[in-house]
Amino acid sequence: MAVFNRILLKLSGESLMGSKQYGIDENRLAEYASQIAEISQMGVQIAIVIGGGNIFRGLSGASKGFDRVQGDQMGMLATVINSLALNSALQAAGMRSRVLTAIRMEPIGEYYSKQKAIASLEQGEIVILSGGTGNPFFTTDTGSSLRAIEVEADVMLKGTRVDGIYTADPEKDPTAVKFDEITYDEIYNRNLKVMDLTATTMCKENNMPIYVFDMDTPGNLKKVMQGEKIGTLVKNK
Ligand code: UDP
Repeated sequence: MAVFNRILLKLSGESLMGSKQYGIDENRLAEYASQIAEISQMGVQIAIVIGGGNIFRGLSGASKGFDRVQGDQMGMLATVINSLALNSALQAAGMRSRVLTAIRMEPIGEYYSKQKAIASLEQGEIVILSGGTGNPFFTTDTGSSLRAIEVEADVMLKGTRVDGIYTADPEKDPTAVKFDEITYDEIYNRNLKVMDLTATTMCKENNMPIYVFDMDTPGNLKKVMQGEKIGTLVKNK
């Protein structure tokens, strides 16, 4: 039995690159699909939000002279591209899944609504919620906080390449120590770069726990569902 009934899984676009410098690594995609299949077989209801940083980020576009709003729109479209890639990989692995979009673009995906997402989840379908929040100046971290709260997920899982939250960046500081649990307030006070502040605040104000874990090691998603404490839990008090 899984410890969570309904989850929102956030995957970064960057992680989809795998060993590449840009775009989508098919091996990484297939590996994610097989981890997702494992927990789908456990009966977990799965909503997924995926980023677009492997293709385009509005903020870095703006630093190169792009209009910020149009750059963000390009970023949101990048999340749709990644969502279609993941949807196709999930279906190739035998799962039932669909893409909903935060901006109307039928027939690429159906327009998102909370009701549609929940109805699909209850039928055992995996739903990929693409296009972030549909608005510029937000990130997919905020998109996933928003959707996790809307679809009434038990937890928002943030799959990263690091196995949790540390006192400092463990890739730069060898003395960094990992937290098993931490509060949202401690994240602010210690100025930890877990998610952007908008996303963290949405979770804090709506009591949505965040679980940060290493998604790039095969089998880890299943371990989280089995209650193994391999990452860091963020919650109020
Ligand atoms: N984006 C946006 N609004 C949203 C979500 C995303 O404008 O609600 C844009 C923004 O430009 C962002 C890009 O889409 O840089 C890709 O998303 P993100 O940077 O969150 O992707 P990740 O870092 O997870 O790969």
